[in-house]
Amino acid sequence: MKKLKLAHLYPQLLNIYGDMGNVLAIKKRCEWRGIDIEVDEINIGDKIDKHDIYFIGGGQDAQQIEVSQELQRHKRFLQDERDRMAVFLGICGGYQLMGHYYQPHNGDKLPGISIIDAYTVAGEKRFIGNVTAHTDLVEPDTLVGFENHSGLTYLSGETTPIGKVLTGNGNNGKDKTEGARYKNAFGTYLHGSFLPKNPHFTDYLLELALGIKPEPLDDEIEYMAHNALINKKY
Ligand code: GLN
Repeated sequence: MKKLKLAHLYPQLLNIYGDMGNVLAIKKRCEWRGIDIEVDEINIGDKIDKHDIYFIGGGQDAQQIEVSQELQRHKRFLQDERDRMAVFLGICGGYQLMGHYYQPHNGDKLPGISIIDAYTVAGEKRFIGNVTAHTDLVEPDTLVGFENHSGLTYLSGETTPIGKVLTGNGNNGKDKTEGARYKNAFGTYLHGSFLPKNPHFTDYLLELALGIKPEPLDDEIEYMAHNALINKKY
């Protein structure tokens, strides 16, 4: 089986609510199956070379300013990687920067890298709490996580939500959508960490990166965590 390379973008700036756990979930689920995986941390000023999976976590507006500027240097490269069908996962603040821009409450619009057709504008209230979404992408058909954002994200064109909100707010609290997908680039507001509690989604990302379905694992504990959060009110 091919060796996987994962780039963790700007972990020193964007890593809240244990977003790092997403990288660990991918790494561990590879190791448990004997799949070779290399994790490279990319920090400000670093060059980025080709990877199979790119991960970017969430953070506060202040850190997003620095990452937004840095990402502009890599925008074309990352768009080419998306077109090559590399897998991307962005959480919350990282998700917002995968779109065209994030307009904070105060201050300048932060440009994104436009690898998904989406934009985000800071709203009046902060959405905090557990989220359950229904999804058509994986079985079982639920995604769970914890959201904390004031940004309201709107999708257009060929970018589609990854789920429909059952509990919580998701992209904007109005249209019941949660997360986004264009090609193999995915974004979501779900922290938690997201992937450890959603092993089926982790394996879906691995399947896209490997080109074959990874063999099943014993996920009893992971699904206990998943099921405990379904439709849980904050
Ligand atoms: N600053 C963004 C917002 O509040 C992102 C927050 C986050 O990543 N948790 O909308």
